[in-house]
Amino acid sequence: MTFVQEPLIGSIGNACCLLASLQIERPFLVLDEAAYEASGARDALEPFVRQKAAVRFTEFELNPKLEDVQRGIEAFRLSQADFVIALGGGTAIDLAKLISALSAQSHAARDIATGRSSIQVAGRPLMAIPTTAGTGSEATHFAVVYVDGKKHSVAHPSLLPDYAVVDSTLTESLPPRMTAATGLDAFCQAVESIWAVAATDESLEYATEAARLAFENLVAATNAPTLEARQAMCRASHLAGKAINITKTTAPHALSYALTSRYGVPHGMAVAFTLAPILAFNANVTNHDCTDPRGATAVRKRIARIVEVLGGGGVEAACASFHKLSSQLDCGTLRDVCSESDHAAIVDSVNTERLSNNPRRASREQLLDILKRTEIS
Ligand SMILES: [Zn+2]
Repeated sequence: MTFVQEPLIGSIGNACCLLASLQIERPFLVLDEAAYEASGARDALEPFVRQKAAVRFTEFELNPKLEDVQRGIEAFRLSQADFVIALGGGTAIDLAKLISALSAQSHAARDIATGRSSIQVAGRPLMAIPTTAGTGSEATHFAVVYVDGKKHSVAHPSLLPDYAVVDSTLTESLPPRMTAATGLDAFCQAVESIWAVAATDESLEYATEAARLAFENLVAATNAPTLEARQAMCRASHLAGKAINITKTTAPHALSYALTSRYGVPHGMAVAFTLAPILAFNANVTNHDCTDPRGATAVRKRIARIVEVLGGGGVEAACASFHKLSSQLDCGTLRDVCSESDHAAIVDSVNTERLSNNPRRASREQLLDILKRTEIS
């Protein structure tokens, strides 16, 4: 079963024309209401939404929770909708993917979310309209869901949205902290994709361009946004999404989920906390602890790409350059959210699936050391 996304739609106006041309009887909207209003998408979409008497699902928390998915499924089944539109950040898009797909399954949502059973048939067609430049969820075939505080990822080819609308004008109203957090997610996803065990020539192309664009534009997009910086970040986010759609993420993401669910750290910042120490850790990979079948030399070659994106001069200089970026974004450090005595619990709840995609095997001790090293910065 293969699913192919339509060519990228670059403006919300074009998305409206496309929606009008599709034979949609009843759309179901998964909406971040504040983003719908602030992004300007409301002005463009509302005539279509009203004309079709669309059903709106708006009551959900940040970071997708199983309970929200279940309520969404109930509303979706009642609505008898034949098309899904997701508008908002990664949460709205991931929720929409799960609501559409899991509504069509005979297995319980909890069983699919926790991996006890899997998706058998595709859900209704989905159009994803991101209003942040971060997760790249509009370009991936997986969705995050927290079950009892633990992060799970549901993956299936049919979860790839049929249409992705990436319009940078929708991100213009994002406040600086959200631009920073979501943009850091895009940058970290790109970097992780470059060193990931599953990296391919195609993913490397997307990821390298995404990392470069994000590194060069994120500070401007956050602190003194221009149209160009916003456009570049939207492109970076989408390309990073395409990259991780192939590779998935690695150790910084694996360690981040506990920081988000326990301490409420925004996802992008939680990931960014450990990026530099893990860059240094991965750069010291040897054939003895390398998990990439292509060997340590191949991994180090890819890490050299990351170092180059960060301005060159070796791994240490690259780490310093990333620290400078995060301080310009006022992103804080791990020390701001927890103390060293909490590190063991964070390591114990590491996401082992994502960790196994890291190019260097990491023991519990080494992960603890990585968390300690975030404090040095
Ligand atoms: Zn992420």
